[in-house]
Amino acid sequence: QSKIQIDHLALDEIPITRTKVMLNIANPASALRSWRLPADGIGLARMEFVISNTIKVHPMALVHLDRVTDKEQRRQIEQLTRGYADRTEYFVERLSAALGRIAASCYPKPMILRFSDFKTNEYADLLGGRDFEPHEENPMIGLRGASRYYSPRYRDGFALECRAIKQLREKLGFSNVIVMVPFCRTPEEADQVLTVMALNGLQRGQGGLKVYVMCEIPSNVILAEEFAKRFDGFSIGSNDLTQLTLGVDRDSDELAPLFSERSPAVISLIKDVIRRAHELKIPVGLCGEAPSSQPDFAGLLVRAGIDSISVSPSSFAAVKRNVRNAEHHFDNFVGVR
Ligand code: PEP
Ligand code: MG
Repeated sequence: QSKIQIDHLALDEIPITRTKVMLNIANPASALRSWRLPADGIGLARMEFVISNTIKVHPMALVHLDRVTDKEQRRQIEQLTRGYADRTEYFVERLSAALGRIAASCYPKPMILRFSDFKTNEYADLLGGRDFEPHEENPMIGLRGASRYYSPRYRDGFALECRAIKQLREKLGFSNVIVMVPFCRTPEEADQVLTVMALNGLQRGQGGLKVYVMCEIPSNVILAEEFAKRFDGFSIGSNDLTQLTLGVDRDSDELAPLFSERSPAVISLIKDVIRRAHELKIPVGLCGEAPSSQPDFAGLLVRAGIDSISVSPSSFAAVKRNVRNAEHHFDNFVGVR
């Protein structure tokens, strides 16, 4: 994420908008640098980056240290967790403290915290990770997101993520934290994840806990009603939604010219899920890169009726201006004042 210098921004020149504009945050430092921006909260906190930057250990390696075969990595894990009677506390304490600094930067506005969403090869790069991850030919469409959280391969690691969030909300008091499930392929899979969450103390609705789902697989749009029944909100992940709608690897340089969130196929899905979410009375936002890299994309989303847009801190001011212009045109057109 690019560094943002907000000191030179004229904060009082950033327009007020009806559409919520939120921030995408990957670490406490960027959250704390951005706290003065007039944002409506954090629309996407990517937990995997906090894990790789501050925890550095694969959560399964903390539960099952005896299964870590690399002696040097085992030594490093022992070193990092020295002083903890129970090694898993190292993960829970450190993660909740780091997430607490992010949640504090926007409190009492909401922070949408997404469970970890690395690909298998990235989880394998965490300390001790190699012994717990399968080799996959296509990790981008492999064991990621929801499928991982109830899988025997990661279930014990997911339990630590849940414990850290429970501590964050209940012990540290950050009740502004909403949790979000990424890459949820089917409604049945949603049920499995919600069950595992409840078993680990995160019951949707209890203590006001809201659970959102990313809308980033075409199935999420096609079966929007089924997903809407199970969650409190949608956040459109335009990066994966574009990749999977067009069949274009989002990381391929060869295919980069074909990767476009403005493709009529992608726009059609985005408009469709916004309309259907509203019929079902659940909020829908977008947290993919499109409006951050192309601020005028925000105008299109406003015209489609989106509730919130989450962008990188460095593009926040430009997106606010585009949102304001789109709202202004809309108001003139329908005669709203
Ligand atoms: C997305 O897919 O648009 C998204 C926000 O998630 P990520 O980029 O982390 O996969
Ligand atoms: Mg995604």
